[in-house]
Amino acid sequence: MSHFAYRNRTLHIENLPLAQVAAEFGTPTYVYSRASLEENFAAYANACKQHGRSDAHGALVCYSVKSNSNLAVLNLLGKLGSGFDIVSGGELLRVIAAGGDPRKVIFSGVGKSREEMRLALSHDILCFNVESIPELHRLNAIALEMGKRAPVSLRVNPNVDAKTHPYISTGLKDNKFGIAFEEAIATYKVAASLPGLQVVGIDCHIGSQLLDDAPLLEALDKVIELVDTLNDAGIVLHHLDIGGGIGITYDDEKPVAVADYLARLFARIDDWRAKKYAGNNITVLFEPGRSIVGNAGVLLTEVQYLKHGETKNFAVVDAAMNDLMRPAMYEAWHGVQALQKREGSSQVYDVVGPVCESGDWLARARALTLEQGDLLAIMSAGAYGMTMASNYNTRGRAAEVLVDGEQSMLIRKREMPADLFALESIPK
Ligand SMILES: *Cc1c(COP(=O)(O)O)cnc(C)c1O
Repeated sequence: MSHFAYRNRTLHIENLPLAQVAAEFGTPTYVYSRASLEENFAAYANACKQHGRSDAHGALVCYSVKSNSNLAVLNLLGKLGSGFDIVSGGELLRVIAAGGDPRKVIFSGVGKSREEMRLALSHDILCFNVESIPELHRLNAIALEMGKRAPVSLRVNPNVDAKTHPYISTGLKDNKFGIAFEEAIATYKVAASLPGLQVVGIDCHIGSQLLDDAPLLEALDKVIELVDTLNDAGIVLHHLDIGGGIGITYDDEKPVAVADYLARLFARIDDWRAKKYAGNNITVLFEPGRSIVGNAGVLLTEVQYLKHGETKNFAVVDAAMNDLMRPAMYEAWHGVQALQKREGSSQVYDVVGPVCESGDWLARARALTLEQGDLLAIMSAGAYGMTMASNYNTRGRAAEVLVDGEQSMLIRKREMPADLFALESIPK
């Protein structure tokens, strides 16, 4: 259920008018619903449980930290039993600072540095998702130096079309991610031959904002094929990680329900394990990001000016592309809702920020009834919002607030200009 709804023309988050959050913490501000985060995580956890798999046995949800890495969000999900999918050493330190369990961390990404590998090994993370042969060799050398064996999974590229935006599609042949399907077996043999590595799993992640689970199930079939071939070659895997990627509703998209996707996925896996492995099961990992946080957050902003041009009307707001990059970067669509709905006729506006770029827009051609000073919520901004924010134009990043029922808690202070140049110096 959505935890953002109008009551008497006033937009609420859970039981709190969003205007109250804006009054207390200012704008622009990201606001997240705790109930929504919990429900979205529970969709995964409950589906695992229903299929006889729990965190300790047979399944682990590793929340994708890069989608929203605020410590309060990580802490909440960690307490619900979540593991974490990280893509940098910095994200590992965040997980630890948030009280997350590093032994439930998997480390993805094409460019892990030596330092990041050392850090992750020193915290005994669950698995490194390795994306190339040189990375295997580097990890092997560092593990041996440290007297450890690094648990590894290979990210294979199943070469299925996720049918999503090219920038967020990652499972096709010609992108930088993963190991080509045809080279997977040979690469596993290299991994298995290196004494500093322990081969434990296989993973893939074919893209983001997938509305249909067919490409994911297609990827699963390809991964299953590899697990079998490896098994016959004496390389036995303990887990299979199908990645993240389930989409959310921004406008009128109808993404597959997580419960339905997981039901189909587990049915296939159980059937396969029953037939080929006499029921001996394999642990399944997930790496969801957007489907957990995307619709749990909004970005609050205030209308600064209304500009009525010859061909276009602009609502200039105090949030910008540095706060929410998705429209500028992917031409992404976000809903725009007035915190207090006005009576009267609407006009069509482009909602734009103050940054000096024509690409600085948050929404285009929206029918809105607006006056200067009105407060707006940019909807579905919980994922890849704050984590992609920058300081372009020396704009401090937005504050972040978590709402629980009628209560609001500041979970990140607004950055102040002095914070932005604190690390800089002028040569004598
Ligand atoms: C970004 C990412 C995810 C999360 O994707 P969502 O679409 O947000 O679920 C999962 N795995 C990897 C490797 C990623 O890079």
